[in-house]
Amino acid sequence: MNAISAPSFTAEYQRTVVDALRAVLPERSVLFDEEDTRPYECDGLAAYSRLPMVVVLPESEEQVIAALKVCNALQVKIVPRGAGTGLSGGAMPIADGVVLSTARMNRILSMDLYSRTAVVQPGVRNLAISEAVAPLGLYYAPDPSSQIACSIGGNVAENSGGVHCLKYGLTVHNVMRVRMVTIEGDVVELGGTALDAPGLDLLAVFIGSEGMLGVVTEVTVKLIPKPQQARVILASFDDVARGGDAVAKVIAAGIIPAGLEMMDKTSSRMVEPFVKAGYDIDAEALLLCESDGIPEEVDEEIARMIAVLEASGATAISVSRDEAERLKFWSGRKNAFPAAGRISPDYYCIDGTIPRRALAEVLLGIQKMEEKYGLRCANVFHAGDGNLHPLILFDANIADEFHRAELFGAEILEMCVAVGGTITGEHGVGLEKINQMCVQFSRAEMDVFFGVKAAFDPPRLLNPDKAIPTLQRCAEYGKMHVRRGMLKFPDLPRF
Ligand SMILES: Cc1cc2nc3c(=O)[nH]c(=O)nc-3n(C[C@H](O)[C@H](O)[C@H](O)COP(=O)(O)OP(=O)(O)OC[C@H]3O[C@@H](n4cnc5c(N)ncnc54)[C@H](O)[C@@H]3O)c2cc1C
Repeated sequence: MNAISAPSFTAEYQRTVVDALRAVLPERSVLFDEEDTRPYECDGLAAYSRLPMVVVLPESEEQVIAALKVCNALQVKIVPRGAGTGLSGGAMPIADGVVLSTARMNRILSMDLYSRTAVVQPGVRNLAISEAVAPLGLYYAPDPSSQIACSIGGNVAENSGGVHCLKYGLTVHNVMRVRMVTIEGDVVELGGTALDAPGLDLLAVFIGSEGMLGVVTEVTVKLIPKPQQARVILASFDDVARGGDAVAKVIAAGIIPAGLEMMDKTSSRMVEPFVKAGYDIDAEALLLCESDGIPEEVDEEIARMIAVLEASGATAISVSRDEAERLKFWSGRKNAFPAAGRISPDYYCIDGTIPRRALAEVLLGIQKMEEKYGLRCANVFHAGDGNLHPLILFDANIADEFHRAELFGAEILEMCVAVGGTITGEHGVGLEKINQMCVQFSRAEMDVFFGVKAAFDPPRLLNPDKAIPTLQRCAEYGKMHVRRGMLKFPDLPRF
C-alpha cells in the first residue's frame, strides 16, 4: 500500500512550529510525538497514509483562529480534519504540515423548535444531532452510512449524502449557515438564518470545498419533523439490468421514495450471514424502496411502487410490517461496508454518479471489468440518486492487487463520466480521484476552481494538492496535451 512516512522536515523546524502553536493553544492540544500523531496518519481511505508533523486539537473558535494565524505566519500547510471517516483521502496529512482536528469542538450550542434549526460545533457527530432533537419530534435528514461517527464539519466539507437524500436533499440543502475561519484568521459567516441570504451564494460554494477554503467552526442545520410512519419494500430481481431499469421506472412514475437503494448478489451474500436481514441471497439484485409520511400516504405510495416493481420483473417482494422489520431490512444495507471485511482482507470503495437510465449499462460494464482486472466487486449503492459505490475486493498482501484495484476504480469513474455522470457523488475528490478530475473538467474550468481557492486562501496553505489537479499532474496522467516538451497552455498558472 502507499505508506509515506519519512519526515521531510528537520527537528528544529518541527520545534519552531510546536513552540509557536503551544504559545497560543493548551499544551494538551498540540501533539507531535509519533505515538500521538500516528492515529491521524490516514482517513477512511486507509490505503494511503502519512504521518503529520504536528496535530492540533483546538477546543474553541478562538483557538482555531490562533492556530491558523500561527500557520499562516510560518507558512505551514494545514489539513482540517473531523472524524477521519472520509473515503477520498481528504484528511490525509501532509508530511511537513499540521492536521487541525475539530474533534474536541463537539457541543450542540442551541436548538430552536420554532425555526426548526440547531446550531452545532463542527465536531458534533451527524447522528448526535438527530438523537438530541428526537424528543422534539425532529431530525437532521442527511444520513451518511457513517453517521454514527462522522462529524458535521466533515459533512459540510464533503457535501455528504445518504439514503434519505433522494427525497430530502444533500448537506447543501439542509445547512442554512456556516461560520468559518480563513487562513488569515478572519471569521466569515456564510448563509443566514432566513431562507435566503443577501449577496452571492457563497454558502453553496463553500459546502463541498473539502477543507480547502476555510475551517468550519459552527453550523446551523435545518431540522425536519420525523415522519409519522415509514415502511420499506424489499424486492428481488433475477437480473441486475432489470433491477437497474426498475429504479429508473419508479422515478419515471413520479414517485420520490424516501430511500431507493440497490445491492447486487455479491453484496447480499456478504452481508446476510453477518446481520441476518432476511435477504434473498439467490437474487441477482435487491432493491430497498422506502416510503415515509402519514400512514395513508405511505400505503398509497407503497402500492404504487409495488405495481412498478412487479411490472419491471421483480421475482419476490416483501414489505416491512413494523418498525423492527423495517430496521432489519435496512440493517443489511447499512452494514454492507463492514461486512466486506468478512470476505476480503481489503476493499476499495468507489463513488461515482451516473444518470439513472445508465444504471444497467454501467453495472454490466463493471462485471466485465471484474474479469479484466481479476478482482471481485460488490455493488451497494444509492440507486435513486444514480450514486454508485462499487466495493472492489482485494488483498494488499498479494503483489499487484492494490495496483489493479486502483486501475479498476479509475476505469469505473471514467465510465461514469463517459455515460454523462460525475466522478463523485458524495465522498469528494480528495487525493483519490484527483487524476479523474483531469478527465471530468477542462483546464479552463479547473483554473476557475484555482481562482476560487486563491480568493479564500491566497497563500494556498489549506489542504493543498487535494481535489484540484495541477496542469503537470494532468499531463502526467495523459490527459493534458504536451508537445515537444511544451505544454499546450504555457500561460496558465502551475500551482
Ligand atoms: C463506512 C462508511 C460509510 C460511509 N457512508 C457515507 C455515505 O453514505 N454518504 C457520504 O456522503 N459519505 C459516506 N462516508 C464518507 C464520510 O463519512 C463522509 O465524507 C463524512 O462527511 C466525513 O466526515 P468526517 O468528519 O469523518 O470528515 P474527515 O474525514 O475528517 O474529513 C473529510 C474532509 O472534510 C474536511 N474537513 C473536516 N472537518 C472540517 C472542518 N471543520 N472545516 C473544514 N474542513 C473540514 C477535511 O479536510 C477533509 O477534506 C462513509 C464513510 C465510511 C467509513
